[in-house]
Amino acid sequence: MARKQHVDRDAQQHLARRDGDPEDWLDRVLGQVPTSFDNACRRWRGLYLAALNQSKRQQRIILDPSRDPKDRESAKRLRAEAEAQLRLLLETAASTHSDFYSYRYFACEGFLPGYNFPRLPLSAFLPGRRQKQGMDEFLTRPRFLAISEFGPRSIIYHEGSRYVINKVILPVEGDENSTSIKRRAIQCEGCGYIHPLEDEPGPDLCESCGSKLPPAYDNLFRMQNVATRRRDRINSDEEERFRLGYELKTGLRFARRGGVVSARYAELVAEDGEALASLVYGHGATLWRMNLGWRRRKDKDQTGYVLDIERGYWAKSQVVEDDPDDPLSPRLERVVPYVEDTRNCILVRPVGELDAAQMASLEAALKTAIQVQFQLEDRELATEALPSSEDRRQILLYEASEGGAGVLRRLVEDPDTLPAVARLALEIGHFDPDTGEDQRRAKRTREDCEAACYDCLLSYYNQRDHRLLDRQLLPDILQPWMRASVRTSPAPIPRDAQLMRLLNLCQSDLERRWVGMVDRMGLKLPSDAQRLVDACTVRPDFLYLDEGAAIFVDGPHHDTPEQQTTDDKQQDALEDYGLTVIRFHHAAEWEPILRRYPTLFGTPVARVELAPSPGTDADAAFDPEDFDASWRSVMIRLAAAEDVSVEPGNEVMDGGRVVDLDLATVRKGERTVRLVDDGKATADDVANALAKQGYRLLRVRSDEPDVVARILVELEE
Ligand SMILES: [Zn+2]
Ligand SMILES: [Zn+2]
Repeated sequence: MARKQHVDRDAQQHLARRDGDPEDWLDRVLGQVPTSFDNACRRWRGLYLAALNQSKRQQRIILDPSRDPKDRESAKRLRAEAEAQLRLLLETAASTHSDFYSYRYFACEGFLPGYNFPRLPLSAFLPGRRQKQGMDEFLTRPRFLAISEFGPRSIIYHEGSRYVINKVILPVEGDENSTSIKRRAIQCEGCGYIHPLEDEPGPDLCESCGSKLPPAYDNLFRMQNVATRRRDRINSDEEERFRLGYELKTGLRFARRGGVVSARYAELVAEDGEALASLVYGHGATLWRMNLGWRRRKDKDQTGYVLDIERGYWAKSQVVEDDPDDPLSPRLERVVPYVEDTRNCILVRPVGELDAAQMASLEAALKTAIQVQFQLEDRELATEALPSSEDRRQILLYEASEGGAGVLRRLVEDPDTLPAVARLALEIGHFDPDTGEDQRRAKRTREDCEAACYDCLLSYYNQRDHRLLDRQLLPDILQPWMRASVRTSPAPIPRDAQLMRLLNLCQSDLERRWVGMVDRMGLKLPSDAQRLVDACTVRPDFLYLDEGAAIFVDGPHHDTPEQQTTDDKQQDALEDYGLTVIRFHHAAEWEPILRRYPTLFGTPVARVELAPSPGTDADAAFDPEDFDASWRSVMIRLAAAEDVSVEPGNEVMDGGRVVDLDLATVRKGERTVRLVDDGKATADDVANALAKQGYRLLRVRSDEPDVVARILVELEE
């Protein structure tokens, strides 16, 4: 405790800048020590158990006289490999070079500080050269590199030898909770946001940008530690394949705290108030990287690799010819390997349509300028185009090493940092930022730089983009940025994202109405909807995970005696498990129930709607896709409100010609209101035309914090 207070004093200042209450944070971290130690031992334990298992299994085959001599021969090889791995893992006299030297190992796992080791790496087993008494060893790579360097049938070079990654070290059965090794997730094609799925069907709309989501990846395979085989020859065909490499895809997902997305939203705003770019900072966000297949594969639509899920071998790819077969078992599955890691990151989305060359050049310029501004090394900051390098809509910058910590946060928190970075980026691009004059080259060089050189945009890390990079594209974008400032959005946007997510998961209008009511009362939103409580095999409508409460919104079909018996049983199971169960009957007054649990829901801050009346389907035809992304969450909230229907914008005529579309028509009972987007240049004309025609109208902006409440009030009066 004394120790903790000491830490408190020192860290208070620093922690106050992080998300949340410092006291709370420290308690949590200290409380998690046993678990994080346990987690840190996982890689070692996984490798050890897998090797032990392999050795036992192969031993049985070797001693089984009924087996084919060929099988027994390959079993001997596999047993020897497993024993070599066990020796390495148990070496107590391990030198500091060993991967399993305690300090090094725990630093890699993020349990002890250590900036020079790759974090949370993956290991590859390299068998030693038998004849020359070579040493067996494990080689490690940071996960994001391992996804390609340790990719299926990839070649690695180590101390003059060449190895092919021929298998994954499969976890021991029962080690992973799931019986299947495959996981599911949906990635948004609009913004790259990742939605991991358990067994639920998954949301229809992206939690981050509101776009309609594509089908899920059903066969994701979390990349494991791997094993290799020595390979001396490599043919030219393979060489070409390796040169082109894998098709990798990156995605991200923001951390969640107390059920709410932990992200900071901000805008880069010009002097005249025009938005130039939107920014989102994610602290400790999860980044995903998937390996979809060789770039040079015949069928581009077929993703993944064939894995022998019993022995761990990667099936040969069609292209390889002289690779001796690793004997596959019949249990083959096509999987897409992926890795995930936690990073601080920022998403930059410039306003307006920029083409691929503009986006790539901006990406390179921002990366270099941020590195110069904060004295980071080239490898400490990484960038990617999202959703993909073929479709560049956003720039993802993330802190690639621990050393960069805290830098990106400043871009959203400080109004002047990003403009300063923009200015620096112009200088680096050989422009005088004040006059805009092209100085044509870096100070100490002799040759003019036409499009890009290693003094401005080119770097070892962006080789794939070199043909796109052009510094001449920078001034048009960056000069306005230089004179702009960053405005942090008020808190409600992450809440919107959470609300949108919950509404997407709802299975009935009644549930949507319940969430809508909780939102409008300003109460705490649930952390989850339709999530299975495994231990009880019950799926409550909503969950408050941190508070330990399960919510049911009971429609009329819960009124039958049979259903009531089932409900009672489920409630008992949940309560035995330690959850508080709260039911909202369709005919009950919900508001008093919500007010009864202030420690769970909080205290209401806004006006309350009337009690619900089930059975209206006025909003059945409502589709958030009909609205511009900035308006979607507002429209979803309106449509979820009691008896309110929302129609997309209509053409507004004046003097026989179309002025523009209005934003939406909202109705409640007899009352109809046309909404006009005040953020558009045509707002005055549209409003005047509607007023002339006698419509009731309301001018609204998507960035008003209370816009939903204001519209609902207009519908009441
Ligand atoms: Zn999206
Ligand atoms: Zn240059």
